Amino acid sequence: MNYRILFPILGLLAILFTSCKAPADHASNSEVTSPDAFEYALVIHGGAGNMNFQNLPEERQNIYKHALDSALQLGLDVLKEGGTSIDAVEVVIRYLEDNPLFNAGRGAVFTSEGKNELDASIMSGQDMNAGAVASVTDVRHPISAARAVMEQSEHVMLAGKGASVFAEQVGLEIVDPSWFFTEKRFESYQRAIEKEKHGTVGCVALDQEGNLCAGTSTGGMTNKKYGRIGDSPIIGAGTYANNATCGVSATGHGEYFIRWTVAHQISVLMEYKGYDVETAAREVVEKQLVEVGGSGGVVCLDKYGRPAMVTNTSGMFRAYGNSEGEHLVAIFK
Ligand code: ASP
Repeated sequence: MNYRILFPILGLLAILFTSCKAPADHASNSEVTSPDAFEYALVIHGGAGNMNFQNLPEERQNIYKHALDSALQLGLDVLKEGGTSIDAVEVVIRYLEDNPLFNAGRGAVFTSEGKNELDASIMSGQDMNAGAVASVTDVRHPISAARAVMEQSEHVMLAGKGASVFAEQVGLEIVDPSWFFTEKRFESYQRAIEKEKHGTVGCVALDQEGNLCAGTSTGGMTNKKYGRIGDSPIIGAGTYANNATCGVSATGHGEYFIRWTVAHQISVLMEYKGYDVETAAREVVEKQLVEVGGSGGVVCLDKYGRPAMVTNTSGMFRAYGNSEGEHLVAIFK
């Protein structure tokens, strides 16, 4: 056998073989061709916690369901018109930030000093770009500030005064901090009985281009101290998106979600262990977090628009819809 001829032929065959394989590109959306893939999909949460029929009577459940439904519809309309997942996530979260029912924007919980300090983040699964703001006190829509950090700055996270200055510079609405005040949250702060109450909002969207985006916005935890920042503005903890796997938005006891890098871990289980999104979310939320006492939940979408809505609490305000007209709004587990 003439090895001088054989080796170049083998080399050529190897080059041809590898160039035919799809590149392992995290930003690729070329694989969104599964027969089950939805053209677009959207999932929302409005916080998880220990809810029951006593502390959440039917009349109140309906008020929450109505708000979740309206938010879902706003987002689905954007996606149906061919809008981006980033636009859909921003529209949904801005709506929820203005709704005092939820612990984000107006209606945010109070710190131990009686202030409202807001955190938010957003991530695009197409290019792994991300933006976040933390401890802002006067930006009406923290999610829009997070988006501006992602798209109009070279940074990922801005905090406190600097974040407000930046938000103003890019033309976002600055409000008097009293805008965030609501009687209900103030009463619970005064009584300090809602320490464990969660009410963060989050959204994950898949658009018609196959791009995932995830966003989260919160007032944090009632009575939080000393400039405390939770998981919601931390990429990989409270928010994560990667077109190769999934988008995730979390809600719960932030200190645990940060240390267990919850959102990223769900993606990693899918990427390296081949888990489906539901199995991955259950592994992290129902096993790992439960073992260490971290309460809360997540909403996720995989790259085909299939959802996972998993909580280890008795309830999580949540909603899901897709291009096939599937529609769900739920509270209890
Ligand atoms: N995760 C949020 C935080 O720790 C709170 C929540 O989701 O309710 O700041």
